[in-house]
Amino acid sequence: MSPSYEVKQKTKKALFDPGCHCYRQLAFGFVIAAFLFAVRGNDPIANVPLVGPKFALLLNRLNIATIADLLHHYPSRHEDLTLTSVTAEVLSCKSVYTRSRKTIQKAIVKIGSQTKELTWFNQPWLANTLKPVLRIGLAGDDISPDFELLKPGQPRLHTGRIVPVYPETKGVSSKWLRSRIHFVLKTIKELKDNLPAKIKTKYQLIDLLEALKQIHFPDSQNRLTAARKRLAFDELFWLQLQTLYQKRRFKQKKLSHRLTVNQEKVLSLIADLPFQLTTAQKRTIKEILADLESVAPMNRLLQGDVGSGKTVVAAIALFVAVDNGFKAALMAPTQILASQHFKTLEAVFAGKGIKLQLVTAATKKTALTADILVGTQALLHRQLKGKKLGLVVIDEQHRFGVKQRSQLINEADTTPHLLTMTATPIPRTVALTVYGNLDLSTLDEMPKGRQAIKTYLVPRTKQLDAWRWIDKQIKTKKVQAFIVYPFIDPSGHETLNDVKAARNEYLNLKKIFDRRQIDLIHGRLSAKEKEKVMARFRDKKSQILVATPVIEVGIDIPNAAIMVIENAERFGLAQLHQLRGRVGRSEELGYCLLFVGPGHETAAARLNYLTQLNSGSKLAEIDLKLRGPGNLYGTAQHGFWQLKLADWSDLSLLKITHQAADLTLNQPTPALIEILKQSKIGQIAPN
Ligand code: ADP
Ligand code: MG
Repeated sequence: MSPSYEVKQKTKKALFDPGCHCYRQLAFGFVIAAFLFAVRGNDPIANVPLVGPKFALLLNRLNIATIADLLHHYPSRHEDLTLTSVTAEVLSCKSVYTRSRKTIQKAIVKIGSQTKELTWFNQPWLANTLKPVLRIGLAGDDISPDFELLKPGQPRLHTGRIVPVYPETKGVSSKWLRSRIHFVLKTIKELKDNLPAKIKTKYQLIDLLEALKQIHFPDSQNRLTAARKRLAFDELFWLQLQTLYQKRRFKQKKLSHRLTVNQEKVLSLIADLPFQLTTAQKRTIKEILADLESVAPMNRLLQGDVGSGKTVVAAIALFVAVDNGFKAALMAPTQILASQHFKTLEAVFAGKGIKLQLVTAATKKTALTADILVGTQALLHRQLKGKKLGLVVIDEQHRFGVKQRSQLINEADTTPHLLTMTATPIPRTVALTVYGNLDLSTLDEMPKGRQAIKTYLVPRTKQLDAWRWIDKQIKTKKVQAFIVYPFIDPSGHETLNDVKAARNEYLNLKKIFDRRQIDLIHGRLSAKEKEKVMARFRDKKSQILVATPVIEVGIDIPNAAIMVIENAERFGLAQLHQLRGRVGRSEELGYCLLFVGPGHETAAARLNYLTQLNSGSKLAEIDLKLRGPGNLYGTAQHGFWQLKLADWSDLSLLKITHQAADLTLNQPTPALIEILKQSKIGQIAPN
């Protein structure tokens, strides 16, 4: 096993992130790292005979960089050509030009006692390949059939068997991949299978090398099923093992400061809140307070839709830390959010004698004297060590790098309690795995009186009516509207001809809403321009903001009540839910109007869930089932969810792999511990 393996291929940072697909590859890497093979699993793909630098570049497009990657480039499907293939003898083959200066290849072959003419197009080299009396395997029609030269003692790869069909890229065909993968599989002498034997027996899983052979070149449908089962198991097992290991390592850290919860004071703080806590808030507060009293450091993730009231839950935890005579810190990803939290905490702690301090890039020089430090990443650059930190809260944790997160809490072997928070909608089953290193608390309930955003799927025939209605709302209720398009400019791609683009539509809308101020915002504007446009909208100088999905993040305009989303079929439900969460943030009822592009009327069934459901995680779950993980969050977090064979909605596999990982960690072999250690998890702390 190469000790440098884990830092070789992808960036270091990505490896630490359990949600990242590189992390999964890491687990695989270890599985294959020990080849007794002319080349090793983590050797560059160019080392494989007949690959070389040119193909290596092409293969990169399929995310194949190493030999292990090639072996784990699984077929997207198989074609059973067992019964439809024949053996033939070549009698002749010639290449002729057509009038349009293209070429046609005509071959005469003998199948049994019959002769047959076969035709291919534009493959002039065939005339040199299909020499008389060669034996070939054939599958398909007389026009462009699949074929392969049959050589004595060599197995068939392309005909007469269950044939793998791969995700391809230009210049890399399934046929080419078959021959290279077959070569590697044939050449491997031994492949170290790191899955413990006990687990293989318990869950009836076949050996790794056998699984790889059978997934590519199955002997039968049954063997293929067994191979899929084993490799899908691996995918989730290694992920679960790493996150569980990380969780255990964190629990072994020493807590920097022990806390006790003064029930009376906490209850009085809650009683002074201007609202009743929701049942979900009460439950999560209980979970967090129990952690705070424990001798092990807390490492908990608080999940909840935008507006579910996470801040006040954090405030109560912060209060306990301060009540014990320690300092506490709350870190947010942007200055706007940090000052928003600062104001919220000021209100919650009014009259309690707790000192708060806002720490941003602008407050570099001020000494950190307060009890609770609320800030941006600027907090990371301040000397927090020796400040007797009892608790660190990180909001929107996914917006920070792992290093930044661990920086706040890593003090040699001791650590403060850690609470991270996120509004990213993610199905609970998925969360349990990708956040398996954390304890989870979920706010699955909105505060009372919060009105659901009224969501409608509007037929395109009603578009003009919709614009009229919006104009009237703006005029009479003085509200504002977002109109969101998937693209900035029209895509040049013909399949995307019908997808509307913000810049074009903005010009149209200017004419339609000629009595309103209307602005345009998208990702290609400079930060300064964006800020200017946002300021105009915030100050109500403009009433309509035409936008790309950039507005998903961090915008809080209470007066915006209408959200229009065009080509809604292009978005995941969870993403649409986050988009519409930008409106309906005041007493004014929020509206969301969805339009679908022509020819996408069937998307209505899926989009209708938005009109009925108001829970981000439920919608994410449906997304996952209907569209698969790649579409959960658009392309922004691509890779995060990518599983090759396993399925995030396969509850039973998620459960048994979790169980298997747990069992494995209870009695880990020294070799396994070595693997887990080498992946460097545990050195960084949370998540
Ligand atoms: P998020 O979970 O998105 O961080 P916030 O903590 O910002 O949500 O809360 C959103 C708003 O809801 C705030 O104005 C907060 O004061 C209010 N809020 C929180 N909890 C409740 C509750 N139980 N009842 C009514 N309003 C609440
Ligand atoms: Mg928040």
